[in-house]
Amino acid sequence: MNLQTPIDYLKGVGPNRADLLRKELSIYTYQDLLNLFPNRYLDRTHYYKINELQRNSSEVQIIGKIVRFREVAQKRGKRLVATFQDDTGTMELVWFRGQKWIRDSLTPNKAYVIFGKTNWFNGTFSMPHPDIEPLEDHKKSLRVAMQPIYPSTEKLTNKGITNRVVNKIMQQLFLESKNKFAETLPDDLLNALNLLPKNEAVLNVHFPKNQALLAQAQFRLKFEELFYIQLQLILKNLIHKSKIKGYTFDKVGNYFNTFFTHHLPFNLTHAQKRAIKEIRQDLGSHAQMNRLLQGDVGSGKTIVAFMSMLIALDNGFQACLMAPTEILSVQHYNGLLDWCNMLNISIKILTGSTNTLERKHIHESLENGDLQILIGTHALLEDKVKFKHLGLAIIDEQHRFGVAQRSKLWHKGTDHPPHILVMTATPIPRTLAMSVYGDLDLSIIDELPPGRRPVKTVHRYDNNRLKVFRFIRDEIDKGRQVYIVYPLIQESEKMDYKDLMDGYESIARDFPAPKYQISIVHGQMKPADKDYEMQRFAKGETQIMVATTVIEVGVNVPNASVMVIESAERFGLSQLHQLRGRVGRGAEQSYCILMTSHKLSNDSKTRLETMVSTNDGFEIAEVDLKLRGPGDIMGTQQSGVLNLKIANIIKDKAILQSARYYAKKLLQEDPKLALPKNKVVLETYRQLSKFKNIWNYIS
Ligand code: ADP
Ligand code: MG
Repeated sequence: MNLQTPIDYLKGVGPNRADLLRKELSIYTYQDLLNLFPNRYLDRTHYYKINELQRNSSEVQIIGKIVRFREVAQKRGKRLVATFQDDTGTMELVWFRGQKWIRDSLTPNKAYVIFGKTNWFNGTFSMPHPDIEPLEDHKKSLRVAMQPIYPSTEKLTNKGITNRVVNKIMQQLFLESKNKFAETLPDDLLNALNLLPKNEAVLNVHFPKNQALLAQAQFRLKFEELFYIQLQLILKNLIHKSKIKGYTFDKVGNYFNTFFTHHLPFNLTHAQKRAIKEIRQDLGSHAQMNRLLQGDVGSGKTIVAFMSMLIALDNGFQACLMAPTEILSVQHYNGLLDWCNMLNISIKILTGSTNTLERKHIHESLENGDLQILIGTHALLEDKVKFKHLGLAIIDEQHRFGVAQRSKLWHKGTDHPPHILVMTATPIPRTLAMSVYGDLDLSIIDELPPGRRPVKTVHRYDNNRLKVFRFIRDEIDKGRQVYIVYPLIQESEKMDYKDLMDGYESIARDFPAPKYQISIVHGQMKPADKDYEMQRFAKGETQIMVATTVIEVGVNVPNASVMVIESAERFGLSQLHQLRGRVGRGAEQSYCILMTSHKLSNDSKTRLETMVSTNDGFEIAEVDLKLRGPGDIMGTQQSGVLNLKIANIIKDKAILQSARYYAKKLLQEDPKLALPKNKVVLETYRQLSKFKNIWNYIS
């Protein structure tokens, strides 16, 4: 049997059902059907006692008897309630429909098996509309112990393709194929990991004999799925490296060495050294670099970026750094300016507010090669911006730029695309990075510069505001500065603006001039006005900065030691973490105060608790991933990679790691998948790969 056979040909399917299966579940072939994995299973191998019931258990099966019926009037009509009892306790069965028929068909004091989900209400468990059958019949019936529940849609159910029907079709598939499914993993992997053969795995995932076999089957299939994704990502990366030529920066010269020996402002951390070394290796190879530099806020990515630029300059090339906002670009520019002056390097900044004359000058000096480093915003992407010899493009705060923008920079190289270094301060959980960015190389700065005191974080309710203000006053008396942040102002959300302005007024009342000076910055201000206020705060002319999240990214005022976040429940975890990163940059103990009302959802509570309990960006990212799911975090463009059929990127982290390990190992041994023992891998990969043409490069 050929698994590529269109689903129409399977007995019991036919053209109408085939059409629905295609439209609703993307099932085109036998293979697709085989890969329709159950979402969950009803475990009918176990019988619960009433006193074992848990408040949020899934479906349970119980043996007992009905001792009495009663009818309860409700707003509309009435409901039928039966008291159900076993030797450990009683519970209720409830029907809202078909009451007469039910009452007539059930006999009190006879043994029944009930099955369904339970609710906890008024001190009793109840099961609405249970599956119910007499114990004798139940014993006689031959049902699969673990009943698979397949993914479905409303349309499918409405058109009669119920779970039972899918089950039947699946049985037919196994019948026609005589359960002979070709193995898709090589023997040595099966042996090394003690995996179930393909045949047994698919059989037990669709028709599990028991929990243990089901678990083994799931493990094998998840491993297989993740293994081939990793194989594909790693191969893409290898091909990219062999295919996309890059400029070779083979010397580390004067700029780098002078800076390193004479001007290094502090000792680099181990993690910074490691990152620089990895980047140097990439730049020195003949392939174009595509590297992601991950490091928590304040971990010191800037100097790594700068030293990478020096390598480009040492080899006669130009470099650029693009940041998402004007404020950030200015800050980068100011930060690098001193170092550049010391080394006699020409550096300029280009943003939306650069005037025409300066702009013209920049364009010219870029094209004739006089300008060595250009910092800026999206303005860098304009077609008019042409480099003589762009060798390295650095992007700060990657998630704010789209993939399209990255590729625009790519085309600014002359002979080859420039090397690309993407920096992000929002740590992406390692597991996710592995599967989404498997084709980018990854450097991680997982160490903060020494001497940093972790920010102390607390959660306070709104009615404690007076105490919080008192604390702020004390800190200002000690000479420190304070941020007070409100949720984002969006054009449509007049409420936010009102919150911010109300907040500002009440703060202005409690912190009166002239003793206190307050800055305010929000998204509806002109960039120049924003900048002016930011500068006043940065220079210490104002003690309090009332702002929306415009200050989220990158802003550096080491004297600011308190971050108050208003309506903290409205912020996402990564945003909270970013905001907190604005303080704790100086030598003083810093504080982050999360203000909320008493009304908090469970997710909000989890976010707040996480913030209070850890400063580790990676840990926070993991929680964020669990709360929001990978799709939300990575945006939709990469969701293809995450469109997993059986594995779950959050729960199956360990399997993912092992899959990646074995995929790497296999490719190291046999990069072209040419060994006879890997024939099965090559064939399966070809089947799976949508990018068939990439084989041209390898074989
Ligand atoms: P981020 O990774 O958030 O961009 P920065 O590069 O802005 O972090 O660095 C944050 C602060 O830490 C800066 O003031 C920088 O000068 C300082 N810094 C960076 N690396 C070190 C180090 N190895 N030792 C001491 N201070 C450092
Ligand atoms: Mg930074």
